[in-house]
Amino acid sequence: MNFPFINLKAQYHAYKTEIDKAIFDVLESSSFIGGKVLDDFERNLASFVGVKHAIGCSSGTSSLLLALLALDIKKGDEVIVPSFTFVATAEMVSLIGAKPIFADISLDDYNINVDTVKNLVNDKTKAIIAVSIFGQMPDLLALREFCKSNNIHLIEDAAQSFGAKQNGLKSCSISEISCTSFFPSKPLGAYGDAGAIFTNDDELASKIRIYLNHGQTKRYKHSLIGFNGRLDSIQAAVLNVKLKYLEEEILKRDEIAKIYNENLNKTKLILPKIKDGFTSVWAQYSVRVKDRSSVIKKLDELGIPSAIHYPLGLHLQEAYLDLGYKKGSLVNTELVSEEILSLPMSAFLTKEEQESVIKAFE
Ligand SMILES: *Cc1c(COP(=O)(O)O)cnc(C)c1O
Repeated sequence: MNFPFINLKAQYHAYKTEIDKAIFDVLESSSFIGGKVLDDFERNLASFVGVKHAIGCSSGTSSLLLALLALDIKKGDEVIVPSFTFVATAEMVSLIGAKPIFADISLDDYNINVDTVKNLVNDKTKAIIAVSIFGQMPDLLALREFCKSNNIHLIEDAAQSFGAKQNGLKSCSISEISCTSFFPSKPLGAYGDAGAIFTNDDELASKIRIYLNHGQTKRYKHSLIGFNGRLDSIQAAVLNVKLKYLEEEILKRDEIAKIYNENLNKTKLILPKIKDGFTSVWAQYSVRVKDRSSVIKKLDELGIPSAIHYPLGLHLQEAYLDLGYKKGSLVNTELVSEEILSLPMSAFLTKEEQESVIKAFE
């Protein structure tokens, strides 16, 4: 059996008529940057999340950069980030000249929490970027309390959790600023690079809009040093169609996760845990296994795709060697990086495909 890790083609075919029309409408309008399509999408995003401002931008990475710029984080400042994440979370902190301080994760949800960050806060700490890894948020309500009492900013990196909930509150609605990615394989995916940023704060929202358009307050009036971080209209049009189906897709993913859970719980795999009061959008269905390389070899032989998210903590990456972390600095991150393995997951994974994955572990 040979099938894709995430079936984007099946998804396209399911919504093809609507998506094709949305793209052709943009071509006919010749309004490729900004305009009505983007305004509509931003309004739909804000109401989906339950937040005052949703601002489309060019990628998840640029949404993180915009959050840090809007919060005035600069050289000499420290920002706490998990080491167990995609590099963009820490990369943008470094790029603006601030210092990422790597936090370890909990073995329950592979996220940071108040316990894993509290000893890292000092006078220089300006913010925490909490990543909602694999589709499940960390306890953002507790982190928000912690940040408030320590007078530091909280940013959610919700690149993998768009649509997830804590106590009924959506991902991207709890932190001061939230960032997400619409990279094609994320829970809500564009047909190219795209992202969005969310806040309830009017002042932050207007700063973000200025930064993502070259610091312009009016045409050719530049009040800040910004960059081109805009979301283009074709991506907004595609996302506007797909957003309508997101809740339905999340239910399907949840059903698939349930079937994995029920059928893999007597195997040698450590299965993902969802905390009480939380939901996951299953950006990944990731298990842990001791003999990972032999398991991957067996899956490969059976034509079953799998992936490693992520094979090495950021604190041990070459780019961050100068920060002085050593093997043993963040024990949970190191353990999970060696054992984690993502199995095929998408709303369009077929019954036969999933059965073949389950069978491989019998
Ligand atoms: C994908 C991802 C990003 C980056 O998003 P892009 O749209 O690819 O720039 C950032 N953080 C996390 C946790 C991600 O998974």
